[in-house]
Parts: sequence; C-alpha cells; structure tokens
Amino acid sequence: MNLPGLRCSLCAKSYDVTELAWLCSCGGILDVEPFAQPLPLRNTLTQRAPTLWRYCEAVPVPEDSSVSMGEGMTPLVPAPGLRGAWIKLDFLMPTLSFKDRGATVLATLAKTIRPELLIVDSSGNAGTAVAAYAARVDLPVEIYVPAATSPGKLAQMRAHGATVHLVDGNREDTADAAADAAGKPDVLYASHVYHPYFLHGTKTYAYEVWEQLGEAPRTLVLPVGNGTLLLGAYLGFRELVDQGLVRSMPTIVGVQAAGCAPLAGAIDGGWREPQRVQSEPTVAEGIAIATPARGAQILAAVRATGGTIVTVTDAETMAAKADLAARGFFVEPTSAVCWAALVRARGDHARSGRGLTALCAESVVIPLCGAGLKSAQ
Ligand SMILES: *Cc1c(COP(=O)(O)O)cnc(C)c1O
Ligand SMILES: [Zn+2]
Repeated sequence: MNLPGLRCSLCAKSYDVTELAWLCSCGGILDVEPFAQPLPLRNTLTQRAPTLWRYCEAVPVPEDSSVSMGEGMTPLVPAPGLRGAWIKLDFLMPTLSFKDRGATVLATLAKTIRPELLIVDSSGNAGTAVAAYAARVDLPVEIYVPAATSPGKLAQMRAHGATVHLVDGNREDTADAAADAAGKPDVLYASHVYHPYFLHGTKTYAYEVWEQLGEAPRTLVLPVGNGTLLLGAYLGFRELVDQGLVRSMPTIVGVQAAGCAPLAGAIDGGWREPQRVQSEPTVAEGIAIATPARGAQILAAVRATGGTIVTVTDAETMAAKADLAARGFFVEPTSAVCWAALVRARGDHARSGRGLTALCAESVVIPLCGAGLKSAQ
C-alpha cells in the first residue's frame, strides 16, 4: 500500500508524507488525500480481531506493519439513569485515553519512514500515547508540555523513555516551542493537531459506534479543544454515509470549558473562524485550547451536521466527575464535560421542556476519554 499524500486545505498543494511537512508553505493546514476503500461486508468485519485495525481499509497505513497494542473497540454501554444515552469507554485504551487511536497510526507511519526523532506537544494524553507507541518501535520522542501538566501524565511519559520539556506559560507557548523543534531536518512532528494521519486514526471512533449500535446515533456529543476526536468522528461518519452504510449524519454537539471556549464563541457569533480568547484556568486541562489550529474545520463540521457547541462551567464539570464516579466511572475532569452537558440538558428538558433538543434525543453517544488516575491527587 502506498502511503497517501497530504494536501493543503487552503491552496491544494500536495506533499508526499515522507517529506515530513506539517504545515503548507502557504500556512494552510494539511489534510490527507482521498484514499479510503470501502469496508468489507458486515459479516466479514465481525470475524476480524476486536481492535480498530478491523477497519484497516479506512486507515492510511498498512495493517500488516501496524504498531498495535490492541487499541480500539472500546465498550459502548447504556448511560446509567439516562434513557437513550450511551457511553463509550475510550479511557479503556492501552495508555488510558482516546489518543491511542491516532498514536497507533502515527507510530506505524514512523516505523515505515524511520525519522531521527519524534516531536509532540500536548496537554498530556497525546504525549503519553505517542511516547508509548514510539517506544515499541524504538524511536526517540521529545514531548513539550505545559509546566502545570498533571504529574501522573508526566510519570507515564517518562516511564516510556520520552524526554519531557516543561514549558512555562500556557498551552500556546508549548505549541510554539514544539513547532520550533519540529522545524529541524528528519524530525517527524507527531502532532495530533497538525498531522492529518492522526484524524484518520480517531475516525475509527465513528466506525465503532456505527458497528456497535448497528446504525448511526441521532447525536454525538464530543469534548472539543483541538477537535481531534470531533473531526475524526465527523470524517468517519462522512465516509460511512458516502458508502451507504449510514443514512444520515449524526448531529454533532461539541462541549468546551466555559473558561476557554473560542469555538462556542464562534458558533454564537456566527463566525467562520474562532477569535482569540482570553482564557482562564480550567479543570478541563485537556480541552483548554485558546487558538485551535483546525478551528475553521471544526466549525464547518459541526454546522454541516446541524449541531452546535456548548460550554460547561468548572463547577458543572466537577459535579459531573463526581456523579460519574458514583456510577462506577473514574475519569479525569476533562472527560466529564460531555456528561455535564448531557445531564444539564436532560434536567432542563424535564423541568421546562427547553433542554437542547439534540441532547434530549432518542439516541445520544458520549465518550469518556481519559482515565481518572491520570490527574488524581
Ligand atoms: C485530548 C483530549 C481531549 C480533547 O481532544 P481535542 O483533540 O483537543 O479536541 C479531551 N479529553 C481528553 C481526555 C483528552 O486527552
Ligand atoms: Zn497551501
């Protein structure tokens, strides 16, 4: 299998993936050129191993050289106490977050092209995931993280042998430091944000939801910072619709932290691009992204499904985290934001009939993206 090339979302210039470009020379963000093959028939699919590689036709790297730890096919369980809602347990991944979906693809790419070094920047989980998968192919990784990152996540990265650079300042300062390092020759910037192969790993979230439910849900609720799960889920359902496997797109509702919500602001304002926002510290560290590089793509995707982006306060997030724990799920605060939005909408609906319709629908799926021990104190 040839590795699909990359194409600029602004000027359509293409790049061979081995060139290690992570941004177009025009400054545009890169996407993957069309490559996905139709899935095999459903009864063939069900005979495959229960990992995300069962959708290998839709993944841009060859399955026979996959760097895999059995990631994917996470359980989809009924949400306790909320009729018609389902929870997908993406924290049950090898490194305990959904980032493994993209990291397994980037590591497989790295194994094939063998750069000298991998660079990542992360609020924690993406770094952890790339560190683990790169360790399996014996490639060195340097990770740039905000100095305030949870100690549990740092311990995890170091355990896999990654070099961790603590950056003073916010998440954007971290991304800038990583971008400098990524400019050197023979470096693969294994960025969950910039490298579009990552999104073609996270899109398996959509394929799994479809296979597990037997259809598309009416609504997908997703946390959104840089939008790597949201854009992946959108891509995945688009492909399923194009193949005629799903009749219509689910409505996508993104959830941001009230203290850092550039995308929710852009939806409210009717803007095509998010504006720079003054961000406040939030317990939802995994989605505190003031300038999402794929912001315009996220807004377009959400709008194309008739969806929206809502915010939740830190108080709502912490209450939702405790509520989930009371039901047996121990997740990090960032992972509680979708539950907070869903519970609030259902409550509003019960009280006044005015809860956000998409969240009160018959079939709604939310993910729990990261395990609680990562940020436990
Ligand atoms: C990365 C992450 C998110 C947000 O993903 P984006 O790609 O920034 O939208 C949400 N929750 C957890 C646990 C994460 O690790
Ligand atoms: Zn370009």
